[in-house]
Amino acid sequence: MNKILFIGPPGCGKGTQANILKQYSYVHISSGDILRKEIQDNTKFGLMISEFVSSGGLVPDDLMINRITQKLNHEKFVLDGFPRTIEQAVKLDEFVKFDVVVEFVCNSDIIINRILNRTICPTCNISYNNAGICNVDGAELIRRADDDINKLKKRLSLYDSNIGSLRKFYNMLKIDASLPVHEVSDILLSYLKEHNESIK
Ligand SMILES: [Zn+2]
Repeated sequence: MNKILFIGPPGCGKGTQANILKQYSYVHISSGDILRKEIQDNTKFGLMISEFVSSGGLVPDDLMINRITQKLNHEKFVLDGFPRTIEQAVKLDEFVKFDVVVEFVCNSDIIINRILNRTICPTCNISYNNAGICNVDGAELIRRADDDINKLKKRLSLYDSNIGSLRKFYNMLKIDASLPVHEVSDILLSYLKEHNESIK
């Protein structure tokens, strides 16, 4: 259970769960974080993709596959935010076979409420439901620029139109992501413990 893929709609809490798994030596590879960093640093790649990201659309597959697979050189990792389409999943499958694919299942109303209230630490990327400072490093929490309702609805409808074919492609472990964070992580950790003796 070293190579984990998280699939779920925006705001389902998969980033939070990936952060919890860091305690068990899993590196969190978030396609969203990679994109934001490239754009922030004004790299050539960043300039190419900023147009797609700022409009809430999808970055071309070959660009993303190339960037993502460069980051998968860790023994234990959680990939989150990619693939989002069946075409991406098929291409990614040539490069990596996941030990488990987790689907975070959550309805849109809960997600819209959560994202509207969400803040994030600019330093360590942990999500919160309040304004203020980060419990870990004391940085001032910010709202993500793309967290407005219209873009969110666009992302949710993109997600809905793709999830059916991803369900057919991957054999997914489904987890009810509307449960409290600690219950979701208990379910996830007990599954990993069943399949991996090194998690304690
Ligand atoms: Zn922080």
